[in-house]
Amino acid sequence: MRPPRRRASQSEDLVPEFWYNIVPDLPKPLPPPLLPDGRVPPREMFERLFAKSLVEQEFSSERFIRIPEVVRDTLISLGRPTPLLRARRLEELLGTKARIYYKYEGVLPTGSHKVNTAVAQAYYNSIEGVERLSTETGAGQWGSALSLAGALFKLKVRVFMVRSSYEQKPYRRVLMELYGAEVVPSPSRLTKAGLSVLERDPNHPGSLGIAISEAIEDVLSDEKARYSLGSVLNHVLLHQTVIGLEALKQLEELGEELPDYVIGCVGGGSNYAGLAYPFLRFKLSGRRKDMRFVAVEPRACPSLTRGVYAYDYGDTAGLTPLLKMYTVGHRYRVPPIHAGGLRYHGDAPSLCLLVAEGLVEARAYHQTEVFEAGAIFARTEGIVPAPESAHAVKAAIDIALEAKRSGESPVILFNLSGHGLLDLQGYLEYLEGRLVDYEPLEIDISYLPKVNV
Ligand SMILES: *Cc1c(COP(=O)(O)O)cnc(C)c1O
Repeated sequence: MRPPRRRASQSEDLVPEFWYNIVPDLPKPLPPPLLPDGRVPPREMFERLFAKSLVEQEFSSERFIRIPEVVRDTLISLGRPTPLLRARRLEELLGTKARIYYKYEGVLPTGSHKVNTAVAQAYYNSIEGVERLSTETGAGQWGSALSLAGALFKLKVRVFMVRSSYEQKPYRRVLMELYGAEVVPSPSRLTKAGLSVLERDPNHPGSLGIAISEAIEDVLSDEKARYSLGSVLNHVLLHQTVIGLEALKQLEELGEELPDYVIGCVGGGSNYAGLAYPFLRFKLSGRRKDMRFVAVEPRACPSLTRGVYAYDYGDTAGLTPLLKMYTVGHRYRVPPIHAGGLRYHGDAPSLCLLVAEGLVEARAYHQTEVFEAGAIFARTEGIVPAPESAHAVKAAIDIALEAKRSGESPVILFNLSGHGLLDLQGYLEYLEGRLVDYEPLEIDISYLPKVNV
């Protein structure tokens, strides 16, 4: 008998022709975005910020949405379908009978899944006559993905990068500038929002909230510019479903039925939803009610495990419409953990609804145990996980060990959303035993908007 195969094929026709929109399959209607006074914001408000096609997708209730051919072609040229691999040496090390598979998004040029939506967003903006995209970035993952997509679709890109990251993480900035983007340390003198912060404190380190305010103000002052977001919104999650749609076919190719566990880390929810939603369909339709879905977050920013399910602002500054989500509150001062992509106060509304309904469960981990899992994965499978992705690795290891104790042999699938080769500082601190495990801060929701009462 031939040994079981270790990796699925990467034939081009595994890349789907349609994205999967989970909204019509949700067990309850998705709560709409609201203005602080409780009204539903008019479409024009979104259309001033985002390309029209993206706003349409944001509110769509069609189950399948066709991927434009140019977008699908571009995704293929950038490396899709991504690999689906079995982590055999990890299984052996753990001594588990569980079969562990992972979908590896780190092969994409900027090192993570984010380019899947960046390409789609740049495409729609380009055909609608937009000339420039503006966005914010913390550590630089989203900024580099959008900079690449802008280069491919001949759009100018301006990225407001949190000043502390701009100074401490020069490599991501170099990447963005190589792709031709303009990277502006935030707070900047380009916007009133930036100027007013600098007036009070010329050495302000910046924050994601300030950077968002600057990007939005920048877009509102330029008719030919639009804003772009890398997570949380429905259309972003939609674009990421290429991950799970490919994985469905690849697992089948390896002779597996549907997995027993689908795992991923959650910042805003896009890589996890991208992998999980095409599988969740089978649970929602009742065909595989026993499948378990596990979302993993940092203990230091525990929106799903300790947050409240309420309407809150999407940004730290309180400029955006309100979204119904599990939130630790937009004023929560997230401790400086290395997994920058997971330092968001809320999560995508559809994912939160699924957690509220008990269809997705959540776990939270400290960063030392997460980096330890990342190191184990590097030593067994060879890939250094991004600190964000290492959260998913940690959960997969724990679930495999739980199965060992109970004598079960589940099929586990997780998303390795990116590699960590530009995040070695965190691994250095892990090796030197210097990582700090921040306890969650007190969650104060007294200031949340009144629509909640
Ligand atoms: C940004 C990022 C995340 C978190 O964002 P989601 O929208 O939750 O996916 C996770 N992993 C990597 C590698 C990232 O760059």
